[in-house]
Amino acid sequence: MSPASRCPSGDACKERAIPIRIGVNEGSIIERKDKLRRAEELGKFFADRKSGHMLALMIAKLEEYLDIFDARGFHDVAISAKSMDAAMVIDVYTEISQRFDYPLHLGVTHAGPRDTGAIRSIAALSTLIANGIGDTLRISYASDHLDEVKDGLELLYCLGKRERKGVELIACPTCGRIQVDLFTLVKEVEKKLMPELVLPIKVAVMGCIVNGPGEAEGADVAVFAGDRRGIIYVQGQKVANVPEAEILDRLLAECRAFEAKVKAGEAKLGEKLVEIVPPDPIGELGSGADKIRAGLVEQVTIGKSS
Ligand code: SF4
Repeated sequence: MSPASRCPSGDACKERAIPIRIGVNEGSIIERKDKLRRAEELGKFFADRKSGHMLALMIAKLEEYLDIFDARGFHDVAISAKSMDAAMVIDVYTEISQRFDYPLHLGVTHAGPRDTGAIRSIAALSTLIANGIGDTLRISYASDHLDEVKDGLELLYCLGKRERKGVELIACPTCGRIQVDLFTLVKEVEKKLMPELVLPIKVAVMGCIVNGPGEAEGADVAVFAGDRRGIIYVQGQKVANVPEAEILDRLLAECRAFEAKVKAGEAKLGEKLVEIVPPDPIGELGSGADKIRAGLVEQVTIGKSS
């Protein structure tokens, strides 16, 4: 009996018109002895690639599996070829996208915990998707499966392949100019707004006025921090200048109010009512002004010798 004539799952799917995914995983290619022999035979293919023989072996194995379904005239399939090696995943999917006319399910298998698995997965999948390769995907971690879904969605949002649901948070990485506890602020904004707001409101949390205005240009709601203060903008219009302890509550309130306005048809996402005018660095944000007045630091005028 040939392998093609023994495929109960293929027969059952065909009978019930259920689509099926046919995939190879580098780690689970069976017949280990065969794997070595085949690797030698196939070594000449893709010799210029890092793991050329494995690439050839995965493609050959996938062809074998597809033949089983082809023999029964069943073509309602999607295909995958996964590896834990991101470069291999890019190579193998690039090859099979040219060889087979089936939808591709993308994935990096055995990617590990989220911290490193995310980088491993995104390195491969974003390259493929940006090149127009792939129809479905799964990001897989050795941790909470909800994170897999969150990160997969975020990847599609970032590449513009899916309309965003919920807040898009932009935040500065901080540098020597920072004068507030921005990381705590960002964490709190994320924790409180993400589960609550449903519209894709762009919120920018910026640490200073040097790069803040530019980064927040396209944001619906933005805050620039200064010397223990924050100025809040809604679509470019300044709505508040508050001390650090009040930034979070005021920012959340402005985001909620903005969402309510959009829902009521009184505002539109992504609109800019006015250009953001950067605040006065000495004065409006308290950046040093109080300290200068109190004589704690000396005001220096560039170009004048003391
Ligand atoms: S926005 Fe300001 S504080 Fe944040 S990284 Fe840019 S320059 Fe630094």
